[in-house]
Amino acid sequence: MSKPVANILNFSGGKDSTAMFIYAVKELGVDIQAVFCDTGNEHPLTYDYLEYIEEELGPIRRVRPDFSAQIERKRMIVQTKWRAEGVPEEVIQSALNMLHPTGNPFLDMCIWKGRFPSTMMRFCTQELKVIPNMEQVYMPLLENGHKVISWQGVRAQESAARAKLPEREDTPEGYEIYRPLLHWSVEDVFAIHEKYGIEPNPLYKQGMGRVGCMPCINCGKQELFEISRRFPAEIERIAAWEEIVKQASKGGGRNILPISKQPEHRRNSQRSRVEQNHTWWTEL
Ligand code: SF4
Repeated sequence: MSKPVANILNFSGGKDSTAMFIYAVKELGVDIQAVFCDTGNEHPLTYDYLEYIEEELGPIRRVRPDFSAQIERKRMIVQTKWRAEGVPEEVIQSALNMLHPTGNPFLDMCIWKGRFPSTMMRFCTQELKVIPNMEQVYMPLLENGHKVISWQGVRAQESAARAKLPEREDTPEGYEIYRPLLHWSVEDVFAIHEKYGIEPNPLYKQGMGRVGCMPCINCGKQELFEISRRFPAEIERIAAWEEIVKQASKGGGRNILPISKQPEHRRNSQRSRVEQNHTWWTEL
């Protein structure tokens, strides 16, 4: 007897995954479950956009990791290993004060790790998307005897690496990857939005080249400049997070981006803004 098929669509709120969702629902009529990995580091407009897309195309399941257990284990390490290593008591107390889950996945991941991810140490995709998706969506379906097809909205035009990807691929974990947009152009992506009267994420009209974490550790200077100019509240939030992570770490943590990528006005005023935000972030 053939297995029941579960089509899982990885939805980010960006133009490509929206185009794929439109294509699956409107053109193919496929029974599909859209899944959004909520990093906790998205712009509020993206959360609003999810609700809009649900009205247009159907439900979107939110997947969020919970790092409470990792933070609890880190508290034990701080109290035992750090003390045995001779870490100063004030650093230990500072870390213990900060090592409490806030409920925000991105921030909790950084508190647990004692640092932000970086282009060299890119653990965020794994911790915030790959593992939660596997644990909460794919494994339960596979264990229940489904054939799982993971729809991914990547396009060959995006990079040389993506151009080499096959349209279909079996994974060692036992599910199949399907990339229906692999040979689409960016014009095709916006055309299908227009054809069915579905708006792209409004962030594209506000200077953002991509949708996802705000900011993403991979974002360029121009995008960072636009974020700081148009969405100063997001910069304030990250400045507050940096101070929390710094206090939770043994070595003083690090910024979310290398300091040279940050806009000059931010470098000059970061300290004073963090001080102004002190009450806000300690109440998280
Ligand atoms: S969008 Fe960027 S910061 Fe967010 S999880 Fe992906 S790589 Fe990391």
